[in-house]
Amino acid sequence: MNGEDLRYLLKVREDVSRAMKDVRFPRPNRWGGDLRMFVVTSIWVLGVERAPRGQRIRRACEVMGLDNFRFWELIRSDLPRYEPHAEPYDAGCVVELPRAKRPCGRSGQVGFQVTNPVDGTWQMARFCSRHREEADAANMAENRRRDAGLPTPLPNRGGLLPCYLPWDWEKNYRKADGSWTPPAVGIRADDWPVLARVEMANPTPPRFKVVLGGVEHDPPGLEEADDSIPPSLQLVTPDPLNTREENDTHG
Ligand SMILES: [Zn+2]
Repeated sequence: MNGEDLRYLLKVREDVSRAMKDVRFPRPNRWGGDLRMFVVTSIWVLGVERAPRGQRIRRACEVMGLDNFRFWELIRSDLPRYEPHAEPYDAGCVVELPRAKRPCGRSGQVGFQVTNPVDGTWQMARFCSRHREEADAANMAENRRRDAGLPTPLPNRGGLLPCYLPWDWEKNYRKADGSWTPPAVGIRADDWPVLARVEMANPTPPRFKVVLGGVEHDPPGLEEADDSIPPSLQLVTPDPLNTREENDTHG
């Protein structure tokens, strides 16, 4: 083993260890895709197996048992985005009862988004049938805020793949979801300002439907996903793991 091999192995060990401790990873999604395990597997494929360019994501998917569809669902689950805090299962009417000094809590009949005009974050608010007036007032206030223009909330979910793996994730996120646009603060969760306490992310339900016999459209191939980040981005976040491979390809 020469010095370079040792450097690679130490980097692999460090990256795997960081991924294993990272509390931002979501639980496996409904298709069985596990983002943390994908990251760990890819670190191994890049740093130890050193699979050739174009074969690296294919190899990681082979080890993980991910087909094209499940791979792209996994990428979709890491789209950098804002998500409101998960509602409790028993979320009821939010109107504060003046005497009891607690929310009404009766089962909600209407519900809509209530946005914080300062940072654009929002939560669902529900109102029961007894609190129709309060619901109307809250709804009108929300409409007024919207008319005045609301800021785009900072992302608080996703963006983990660019923290670990040197592929062109902006391109891959766009392929995974054509309607996605990158947040102004960038796609890398490590670079985001901290919004609130770090908590376990919830997997987003997939937006495209599964039809019998296949999916609505063909997801892109795995080779297409296996492109490294553009050189300009690489200067910002140099990754020793991939340096040699990139030089071979471009130089
Ligand atoms: Zn109520």
